[in-house]
Amino acid sequence: MSASEIIIPKPTDVNRIQDEHWRLRASRVLPNGMYGHIQPHHTPANYPQFFGRSAGARVWDVDGNEYVDMLCAWGPMILGYGHQEVEATYQQELKNRDLAYGASPRVVELAERFVELNDGADWAIFGKNGGDATTLALTIARAATGKKIILKAGPSYHGATPWFTPVMSGITPEDRANIVEFEYNDKESFNQAVVAAGDNFAGIIITPHRHDTYTDQIPVDLAFAQHVRHVCDARKAVLILDDVRAGFRTSLAGSWAPIGIRPDMSTFSKCIANGHALSALTGIDSLREAASSIYAVGSFWYASGAMAAGLTTLRILEESNGIQTMTERGNQLVKGLREQAASYGINVVVSGPPTMPFVRFEDGKEMEHAFIWCEEALRRGAYVHPWHNWFLSTAHTKEDIDFVLSATDCAFRHLASRI
Ligand code: PMP
Repeated sequence: MSASEIIIPKPTDVNRIQDEHWRLRASRVLPNGMYGHIQPHHTPANYPQFFGRSAGARVWDVDGNEYVDMLCAWGPMILGYGHQEVEATYQQELKNRDLAYGASPRVVELAERFVELNDGADWAIFGKNGGDATTLALTIARAATGKKIILKAGPSYHGATPWFTPVMSGITPEDRANIVEFEYNDKESFNQAVVAAGDNFAGIIITPHRHDTYTDQIPVDLAFAQHVRHVCDARKAVLILDDVRAGFRTSLAGSWAPIGIRPDMSTFSKCIANGHALSALTGIDSLREAASSIYAVGSFWYASGAMAAGLTTLRILEESNGIQTMTERGNQLVKGLREQAASYGINVVVSGPPTMPFVRFEDGKEMEHAFIWCEEALRRGAYVHPWHNWFLSTAHTKEDIDFVLSATDCAFRHLASRI
């Protein structure tokens, strides 16, 4: 499709009859009408709450409205929804088994795969959610060092566990007593946290770049990462890289492999199995004993269907050079968004790796303008998000990105007419 053939998305006469129906029923039986980050008030008023179908790079809400999806289910769908080869392996595995008394050989194959791919990793443990992996990492760091305190960056998210949840309702100060915070990329602040940890410094958990919500997604400063590595070595503390969100979208070897910083443990989840529930913790040999000493398990952690899907997803990503494809599409998107914003005289910062871009309005009314802009893009068929980074998948074609850019162009024009 050439640029002149791009279909300019028409605003949908948004029909929300089914969505309203399910919202009402949800309000009776789900606390708050919905739990977690997808509560209705977290997105613009016109955003659908319930979805009925997904395929490739597209989703359909329960009322049948179609969108090119730039959220990829908050990251997992790295090859797109319902990827045929992944689903075929998954179904084949289910024909044989999924859960059974013991594990399947898939767990060994997947651990071998992680050890092969992940820079410096010698072993792996698998769970279901990212929070399983980050919590295990903390436990192993403490078991290995015999110390308590874990350093983490300010609002950095590592899971909805008492150690990390950003919402303090129901959490006791004791739950957080052994977490000390520092500012991402700030050497002084990190040094102060190390001093505060004193003799109890067990380790640090850090994301590969700063990908906090609402804020610019900034790359880690190389000198800062080197300093963190150096201090951890000197203090015999454990460096944990939380690659749950960014993993496999910038490098197959772990997100700090390209900058040459080797973590002691890494956590992954989201996209490992293209939408099937799976998380992974990998670690270096010197932590094997500590990893062997802790009790790590969940009823569904050995389910082999997701592991088979994971093996296929990682193979396809590698063989098809998926990161390069996503990067090209992401660059197309980022360039287009920046040009559009400039042409309408709107101050926008597009940050983050091209495979995980984030758009922030820099005009004193950031959230209000993000909501207006996103709502208009959504009306035109592009599912974008006002406060969370987006995700590219290998299913996004050049034409999909052209379509999204047509929708965002309409949204910029709409916003410009209102400010
Ligand atoms: N770490 C990071 C960096 C994350 O982005 C997330 C989820 N957004 C988690 C951990 C927690 O993962 P999960 O929601 O699968 O428990």
